[in-house]
Amino acid sequence: MVHVAVIGAGPSGVFGAAELLKRPDVFVDVFDRLPTPFGLVRYGVAPDHHKIKSVTRVLSKVLADPRVRFSGNIEYGRDVTAEDLRAAYDGVLVATGAPLARKLGVPGEELPGNYAAADLVSWYSGHPHARTAFDIPAEAVAVVGAGNVSLDVARVLLKGGAGLADTDVPEEILRTLDRNPLRDVHIVIRRGVADVKFSSAELLELEKLDGVDLLVDDQNLVLGRTGQQRYDCDRTVAQTVDIFRRWAARPARAAAKRLFFRFLRSPVEIFGAHRVEGLRLRHNAIDAAGARDSGSGYEDLAVQAVIQSIGYLGEPLPDVPFDDARGLVPNVGGRVAPGIYVTGWIKRGPSGIIGTNKACAIETVAHLLADLGQKTADNDERTAARAQLHEALRERGCRVVTWDGWTDIDAAEITLGRQQGRTRTKITDIGALVDIGTARAS
Ligand code: NAP
Repeated sequence: MVHVAVIGAGPSGVFGAAELLKRPDVFVDVFDRLPTPFGLVRYGVAPDHHKIKSVTRVLSKVLADPRVRFSGNIEYGRDVTAEDLRAAYDGVLVATGAPLARKLGVPGEELPGNYAAADLVSWYSGHPHARTAFDIPAEAVAVVGAGNVSLDVARVLLKGGAGLADTDVPEEILRTLDRNPLRDVHIVIRRGVADVKFSSAELLELEKLDGVDLLVDDQNLVLGRTGQQRYDCDRTVAQTVDIFRRWAARPARAAAKRLFFRFLRSPVEIFGAHRVEGLRLRHNAIDAAGARDSGSGYEDLAVQAVIQSIGYLGEPLPDVPFDDARGLVPNVGGRVAPGIYVTGWIKRGPSGIIGTNKACAIETVAHLLADLGQKTADNDERTAARAQLHEALRERGCRVVTWDGWTDIDAAEITLGRQQGRTRTKITDIGALVDIGTARAS
């Protein structure tokens, strides 16, 4: 028999557990620092992306398996140590994702009104540890970055509270969004239209936004020589470019809200006396590497908020090697050190869709199981050590939220939603989540 600990109950950790379960003698303990499972699916996937979020049904089946034990509200490094895990498990699979935000590093980042997209997404997703709220009145907002997270943030802000009523976003957050007088969102893109990372499905979704004009300056839709080559050879690039060309050719409809795509612009400074009043952009020109300073000057965008959406970074973990520059755990095919493995964004960086984590887990788990071989020795000892660890958690005063505890939180959120005429409303208060999730056990 083999005993494996998984750190992180997000999609990468749970896909890892699912892969481990394919071997019939494996037992898996999944730990998460939050009292709730599903990680990025619950707190990162946009609230209006119901179809993507429905993967929780698949993840739930894995976590409810009799050979899996979910322990929420348990943080690696705080409640359990590497030493604890070495004693109780044959292997540890780290799946902690990439929760931190990359920063532009330009002057003015300290001003109120400058946000990391990671923080804003946590806030509107009702994350119990959200560090910020979008409560500064802003008529115009700049979102920096040409990835799908920028599109999520722009879409959520433009929909506002009223447009998100059919989601699980907490009511007070919907109200805060509705109080904001937002009219314009500018997506700031440093390279050309052939180099964006938006996916075409996410772009086309913007066409369904009620009362929003999609505005593109056709003068900046240049491809350059390499861009043209990519347009000619890569269907995905051609699709994306054609969407923007179509939008640029449409007459504006004088809608109440506007979404601008500002290509070939690099943010160089956030400015304002006491809070954000604008974003200075350098004009770029296309070159072989993507873009360079065109030498043709700067422009100032009058915005009251800047949202930096330029990628995520992993967080270092005690007793696990870390590559600060890349923001991930260095590994070879998921192998980190004897007994320690990684999967998901902490393994390969913040890229891909939820399903990408399946293939990622398959690779890592194959290596983990190959390294363990047909381990059968010390089975009783390991089983006892696992039981001891869970006992020790209780002795240390940890309030473990079990899978049953999570189902109680789930039921409470559905009840709260029904009371508000909705399908579900997320509970954001960490104390309340833990109280509900541990009520049965106490
Ligand atoms: P991303 O796709 O890597 O995009 C990051 C963007 O930031 C890029 O356009 C990048 O430009 C830009 N950037 C980086 N440094 C910059 C700087 N200093 N100045 C200006 N721009 C800068 O990251 P993401 O949007 O955070 O998404 C993370 C992953 O989640 C992606 O794989 C994404 O597809 C996925 N995701 C998927 C969905 C969905 O499928 N519905 C939704 C959300 C996220 P360069 O290209 O020039 O470096």
